[in-house]
Amino acid sequence: MTASSLRDLQLTFPYQFSGQSLGVNVARGWQPIFAQLCSDIDSALGPQKRGLYWRQVKEKWGSLRASFRLDDGVYEREEAFVQSLFDLVATAEKGTQSICASCGEPGRLDTNDRYLITLCQNHRDQLLVGIAVPIWDEGRPR
Ligand SMILES: [Zn+2]
Repeated sequence: MTASSLRDLQLTFPYQFSGQSLGVNVARGWQPIFAQLCSDIDSALGPQKRGLYWRQVKEKWGSLRASFRLDDGVYEREEAFVQSLFDLVATAEKGTQSICASCGEPGRLDTNDRYLITLCQNHRDQLLVGIAVPIWDEGRPR
């Protein structure tokens, strides 16, 4: 995730990034999906905006994985509501299974490659001939 777009999200939804995080790393091509997820979560939470933050956002098995924490006692009697938050995350994660991690164009997961990531045909071809495919922003750990 570029520093600027992550900063934008932190400014727009500060509470979502205020907890003890294990890291928020979003591939370039998936940044619009993650930004939409932050916005959808914000809408779902309603006016109170409390008790939820991203615990970890990363790539796993070629697509996005996002996990959040709810503060103790928050929403504990609202199982259906909490499930709706999980559903939003699941939808975003599933969306990245068909979106190139580099450019955001339609892509697919190549399970035959040593490098497991969802890519469009162009970036897959580049990777196969050894051309570096920008997925993670410079200087940020995966
Ligand atoms: Zn691509």
